[in-house]
Amino acid sequence: MRPGLTLVRAIHCCSVGSGDGSGGTGGWDVIRIVRGDITTQEVDSIVNAANEGLWAGGGVCGAIHAAAGPGLEVACRAIGRCPTGDAVITLGFRLKARFVIHAVGPRWLGGDRGEAALLERCYGSILRVAAENGIRSLAIPSISTGIFRFPLVEAAAIAMRVLQANDREDLDLRMVCFDRRTVAAYDWAWRGICAQSRDTGNRDLQA
Ligand code: ADP
Repeated sequence: MRPGLTLVRAIHCCSVGSGDGSGGTGGWDVIRIVRGDITTQEVDSIVNAANEGLWAGGGVCGAIHAAAGPGLEVACRAIGRCPTGDAVITLGFRLKARFVIHAVGPRWLGGDRGEAALLERCYGSILRVAAENGIRSLAIPSISTGIFRFPLVEAAAIAMRVLQANDREDLDLRMVCFDRRTVAAYDWAWRGICAQSRDTGNRDLQA
């Protein structure tokens, strides 16, 4: 996607406070930012903020495993491990989503241990696995910003930058934020990207 074209296609649609955010917009939105519970999303695949051992654990991962039922744990044990920055896919079992992409974000260790690059890689891995499996609609939580303590504003900027650069027009992308603070951070990041692509577009026109 050329930066100058982005703003034309990227009608920002932020359905803040819309419950599960499952309603369609019918617009040309590239990424929707919604507030809700990812386990109830009716999409081809939801994304799990997983850990390297693919254990159920707490946070969004625990919620996904609880909603999917024991089949998910069995599928994860069959895979075994997934390195930080990478992603693997399983079925969704009792979830409304057919698949779960388990993506391992980095634990925040102060910022000088390659955390930003690993988070960027993590979102790239999600898009790659989604494309490889023909996924057309995808719901993603705020990876690494809970138990892994990645600073929210920085994480949101990285996530939105990588997701915005996705060039699949047939992919319906949805960021599912659990609370208002997270919605605000992703909304802010998205506005920053729009402003940047508007500036780039204006420069292209003037050139
Ligand atoms: P990590 O270990 O990658 O930091 P967490 O699960 O601790 O993952 O948190 C990631 C984000 O997911 C946090 O913003 C947290 O509030 C959010 N979250 C927790 N439960 C849910 C849920 N059911 N749906 C969507 N997001 C959730």
